[in-house]
Amino acid sequence: MSPSQVLDGANRQVFLGTFVHSKSRAELEYMHDTAIYVDEHGVIVKVQTSGSDTVEETLEDLGWDAASVDRHVSTDGQFFFPGLIDTHVHASQYPNVGIFGKTTLLDWLEKYTFPLESSLKDLNKARRVYSACVRRTLAHGTTTAAYYATTDVAATNLLADLCLKMGQRAFVGRVSMDNPDLCPDYYRDESAQASAELTEQTIQHIQNADPGYEIVSPIVTPRFAPSQAALVSRHVAMGEEGGDGHKLTVDEVLYLATRGGAICVGLEDKIGGFEEGKHWDAQLIGMRTVGSGEGEDGEREDESEDSNVDLFGWEDWEERMAKWLYGGDDRNTKKVWVKGRLVHSRRGSDRQTK
Ligand SMILES: [Zn+2]
Repeated sequence: MSPSQVLDGANRQVFLGTFVHSKSRAELEYMHDTAIYVDEHGVIVKVQTSGSDTVEETLEDLGWDAASVDRHVSTDGQFFFPGLIDTHVHASQYPNVGIFGKTTLLDWLEKYTFPLESSLKDLNKARRVYSACVRRTLAHGTTTAAYYATTDVAATNLLADLCLKMGQRAFVGRVSMDNPDLCPDYYRDESAQASAELTEQTIQHIQNADPGYEIVSPIVTPRFAPSQAALVSRHVAMGEEGGDGHKLTVDEVLYLATRGGAICVGLEDKIGGFEEGKHWDAQLIGMRTVGSGEGEDGEREDESEDSNVDLFGWEDWEERMAKWLYGGDDRNTKKVWVKGRLVHSRRGSDRQTK
């Protein structure tokens, strides 16, 4: 199957309801009673705010057959939000998440990082690890990820294939490391020359799999390069506080996770917000609303809404966003789309979006 077959199979779609995205670094924008029209290539062709034409009128203007257009509605308390962009993920380290032992950073590399990464030349093992990593990040609303794989060409190519198949927009890099002082003998490229040749093989593979880099693109990911260390520390700094040392606000964190990330990976014209011409990389967020009839016996009115966050209905939208950011998790991510394609749907979420 060619990438265009994978990518262009979707129907035209209309998304209706509340949309939230960043207006600027400092401020989110809330668009209620809005309709967003997404074509068969996953591109937003129209953003229609309340008070203008009806959906039926607009469909006619677009020349779209209303019967064949899929409709998705955000119900009360739900909203559409741009997909999250993670600019630095070690996919090969996914099984080690949470494991540190009683080690220092260098010991940790020796004891946990290098052995695991090296073992992923076993493609069955790589498939298990990478599939789980892509599935988990998609379920959390990560529509774009910049991935480090391992030094192994075949396993790195497999990660790219899985991203394409599962529909996650990704940058995939073979880890290049040849410095004998820092890398163990069993896990490093033979020379800088060999390193460059192996990396070229993964670039070729991705070029063949997705010639237009519609979903997956190759990147060069050296380990231990000074530039990488600087980049990592900058990301960490960005995550912890703003440039002038103040704590990040809710709006700023969500900006960095969407438009900021898009700028970081050079895709600010395609993703990160809801404008005409951008791709539909988005998630539907829902939080449980505590019913008015819910008493102290702990009875729940709506068992189907599995959520760690409870809304009471009196929160304004800024407060809802804060509750989602600080208390939410993958249970609140009901559906996820990349370039118009539905790539994740939480069990039981269909009922609420029909
Ligand atoms: Zn890293």
